[in-house]
Amino acid sequence: GAKSDALFAQALRWIPGGVNSPVRAFRGVGGNPFFVERAEGARVWDVDGNAYVDYVGTWGPAIFGHAPDFIVKAVQERAAFGTSFGIPNPLEVRMAELVIQCVPSVQKVRMCNSGTEATMSAIRLARGFTKRDKIIKFEGCYHGHVDSLLVRAGSGALTFGHPDSAGVPAAFTQHTIVIPFNDKAALEEVFKANPGQIAGVIIEPVPGNAGLYLPQPGYLELLREITRKNDSLLIFDEVMTGFRLGLAGAQGVFGITPDLSCFGKIIGGGLPVGAFGGRADIMDCLAPLGPVYQAGTLSGNPLAMAAGIAALEHLLDGKVHNQLEALGAELEAGLKTAAKAAGQAVTFQRCGSMFCGYFTDQPVYNLADAMRSDREKFARYFHGLLNEGVYLAPSQFEAGFISAAHG
Ligand code: PMP
Repeated sequence: GAKSDALFAQALRWIPGGVNSPVRAFRGVGGNPFFVERAEGARVWDVDGNAYVDYVGTWGPAIFGHAPDFIVKAVQERAAFGTSFGIPNPLEVRMAELVIQCVPSVQKVRMCNSGTEATMSAIRLARGFTKRDKIIKFEGCYHGHVDSLLVRAGSGALTFGHPDSAGVPAAFTQHTIVIPFNDKAALEEVFKANPGQIAGVIIEPVPGNAGLYLPQPGYLELLREITRKNDSLLIFDEVMTGFRLGLAGAQGVFGITPDLSCFGKIIGGGLPVGAFGGRADIMDCLAPLGPVYQAGTLSGNPLAMAAGIAALEHLLDGKVHNQLEALGAELEAGLKTAAKAAGQAVTFQRCGSMFCGYFTDQPVYNLADAMRSDREKFARYFHGLLNEGVYLAPSQFEAGFISAAHG
C-alpha cells in the first residue's frame, strides 16, 4: 500500500536495507514489505488498513495469537511498578520455577535477552565446563548471529545466498565443525576424528531455519549416546521449538535429555527474552559461582518476565498444545488436498504447529534436500497468498507457525 511504501522509502534512507532484521526486507520473494499498525489474534493490520492472516506469529512467540489479553494486562500492570531495576525481582524466581517445572532436563536456568545471547552463552559454558574448544553444528541450523555459529547457517543467511557472514575472522570459526543433519555416519566420523576435543554439539532438534524437517528415527538417540560416550555436551537449541511442540519442547516429544537447552520466543511472551539452562553442575560454572562470564543489564527484566510468565502459565494445562496439534493436522490435510488439486508437487512437512511446504516432489531430510525446492515458485505462491490476505514468512527457508487464535 501507499503508506507502507512511503515508510519503506524513508526507512531505506535511515536503516540499512530499511529493516532491523534482514529477512523482513522481502528480498527472498521480491517486492516491498508492509508496515504493521497493530495485531490481534491471528491477524495483523498494515498501515494502509489491509488485514492479513498471519502465519509468522512474530517468528514464533505468538503461540496464542497476537495481543492476548492476559499478556497485555500482565505487561501493563508491571510497567506501572517500573520497567527495569537491575536488582533481583520476584518474577525472575517464578520464571525459573516455571521453566524447571516444564522442562525436566533443566535444573538451573539463566535469563538473557535474545535467542542469540542464549546460544552464545551456552557454547561458551560448554567450552568452559569441558575445557575443550571444538563445537559441532549442523548445515542449515541457525543459532542466531553468534560469530562462531554463523557457519552454513539457515534462515536469512540462506535466503540471501551467503551461508557464512563477512566480518567473522576465520580464527573465530576454526573450532566450529559443520556436518549434515540426519547423517549418522558423518556424526560418528567427526567424533572419531576429534577424540577428546569436542566441547559440545549444538542442534535444532527439529530444524526450522531451512524450512522444516524432522530428525529421522534414532538420529537424536545416537547424538545423545555419542556425546555422552565422549564427555561432550549435548545442547538443544529450542529457541523455536521450546514451549511450542509441547511444554518440554522437542526434547519432550522425542524423549531425549540434553545437557543444556536454549530458549527464546515463547518464553518472552513477545518481549525480548532468551534463556539457557540445564544440568546444575554445568550451570554452576557461570559467574558469579564459576569462571564462565555471562551477564546482562536488562536480563530478567520485569516486563519481559511478566509477559513470559503469563505465556507459560497459560500453556501448563496442555489445552493449547492439543488445540494446536488439531489445527496443524487440519491445515496439513487442506494444503495437501489443494496442492494435489492444483497439480503441484509439494513436500509438506509439519511438527505440531510448525510447518513448511517445499516446492519439490522429493523428501526433505536436510539442507541439501531443502535447497532443491523451487524458490521462484515459492515467491509467486507467497505473493499470491499475500494478495489474498494471508501472510507467510517471506522465504522458502522459514517455518510457518500456527497460533491458538487461528480458525
Ligand atoms: N536459535 C534458533 C533455533 C532460532 O530460530 C533463532 C531465531 N529465529 C535464534 C536462535 C536466534 O534468536 P534471536 O533472533 O532472538 O537472537
